[in-house]
Amino acid sequence: MGDGEVSKSIETRLFIHGEFVESSDGKTFDLISSQNNDLLVKVSEASEEDTNRAVASAKAAQPAWSALSPKHRGSYFKTLATLIRKNNGEFARLEALSMGHPVSGYFHAQVAASTFDYYSEAGYDIQGTTSLNNPGYLSMTYRQPYGVAAVIIPWNVPMLFLAKKSAPALIVGNCVVVKSSEKAPLTSALLATLVKEAGFPPGVINVLSGHGHISGSVLSHHMDVRALTFTGSTRTGRLIQEASSKSNLKAISLELGGKSPAIVFEDADLDAATKGLVHSVQSNSGQTCMASTRIYVQDTAAERFITLFKEKMEAEVRSGDPLEKETNHGPLVDVTQFEKVKRYIDIGKHDGTIILGASPRTPSTGHFIPPTIFTHTPESSLIMKEEVFGPIVNINTFTLESEAITKSNDSEYGLYASVYTKNIDRAMRVSRALEAGTVAVNCTSPYTSVDTPFGGYKGSGVGREGMPFHSMEFFLETKSVHIK
Ligand code: NAD
Repeated sequence: MGDGEVSKSIETRLFIHGEFVESSDGKTFDLISSQNNDLLVKVSEASEEDTNRAVASAKAAQPAWSALSPKHRGSYFKTLATLIRKNNGEFARLEALSMGHPVSGYFHAQVAASTFDYYSEAGYDIQGTTSLNNPGYLSMTYRQPYGVAAVIIPWNVPMLFLAKKSAPALIVGNCVVVKSSEKAPLTSALLATLVKEAGFPPGVINVLSGHGHISGSVLSHHMDVRALTFTGSTRTGRLIQEASSKSNLKAISLELGGKSPAIVFEDADLDAATKGLVHSVQSNSGQTCMASTRIYVQDTAAERFITLFKEKMEAEVRSGDPLEKETNHGPLVDVTQFEKVKRYIDIGKHDGTIILGASPRTPSTGHFIPPTIFTHTPESSLIMKEEVFGPIVNINTFTLESEAITKSNDSEYGLYASVYTKNIDRAMRVSRALEAGTVAVNCTSPYTSVDTPFGGYKGSGVGREGMPFHSMEFFLETKSVHIK
């Protein structure tokens, strides 16, 4: 696909104060196809001046926006949700082109629409408290928005994160500056066109494209940004937390990386376990924060499990052009990610035993990595410790429950963990012992429920997001008021 075909049909400029503009210094960056190294389109790179202007616009718009009733604010959400649904096909196409997600399994825009729908009604749920406990006084709390909230998102599931972060920030009365990922900016730009069509007042939602340096860093150091919600790597999360402490101590929510363990006991339904775990490792070509990439199977069931797992993985995967309906395994997002994953495969081959790692159906050009399985890898190997973000899984064995728990928890990450067993006592014990923000029993990632909090233990994050209250709570200050 040449530059012309994509660029004619898609907005690539910055959305500031309700208008699309080129970068103030005219700079753009190249967006490269995930399938081949062709230039897809040139995208505006937000400068420091653009970023400051977006923050100023949000700051100026916020008093009037927060003065509206939640119902009024929510009415814009309903229109936006309808427009997102109408454009689902285009969202899917743009994500396939830029980050290689197959159109066949594309659900991100639908989730984004449902999220805006949900929050369109949720604003009234936010209320303060009153107290008559202190004689002579009426005490109460107000919940008030911060003002300007920054939303920094990754490339792997962009629309879902954009909606899950922006909608709660907005419905409680903040205005937002969204910074999309330089690897997948097109769907955020499309969403900005729908924000305009939906008639949101200028400045309520601003959308910038660009890299961590400059726009991401300017936002995280900005004195007028009072809350920042981030999803991305642990490395960037640390930089953002540092920027917050060096600037204005803005409130920070961090959803970071993972190296999720799954424990399979000998009494588990091995068919169900392999089905769930193969999908967990393979979906989005392994570029999923909560992918179950460390599997610990009880030694007595290991041979059966590994045979089933390998068979299922080989049978499931249909690599190819992400725009084709049959494809369920697209290329990795770009050459950097491709080279990074290949380096981990070399480590895996050196430290462990590879039992699946090539497929005749893998296209020979493009950033395709076939699902790859390693066994017998020492726990100290880098491939067991670091997040790979590709369709790579390590399967190791254990004898005792305590050993499985120790190995699972021996990680700086703690985003998600799974346990497969038919023994309810064991399921309860193990789920309590695992150090992870989410534990799945007899199921695995990417399963999450819409009404429980999501977030990480340890290096996987700070704070919790989710419906009904966690995300909205993050975007609100609490004030105590005493009346004598
Ligand atoms: P990344 O950290 O490289 O980039 C994420 C965003 O941060 C991008 O928009 C990027 O431009 C921006 N950024 C980069 N440097 C910055 C800086 N110094 N200041 C401010 N912003 C900066 O992550 P990625 O490669 O886009 O995404 C993959 C990572 O995200 C993986 O580690 C994955 O596990 C994680 N992730 C976590 C979750 C979760 O819910 N916990 C979900 C999805 C992805």
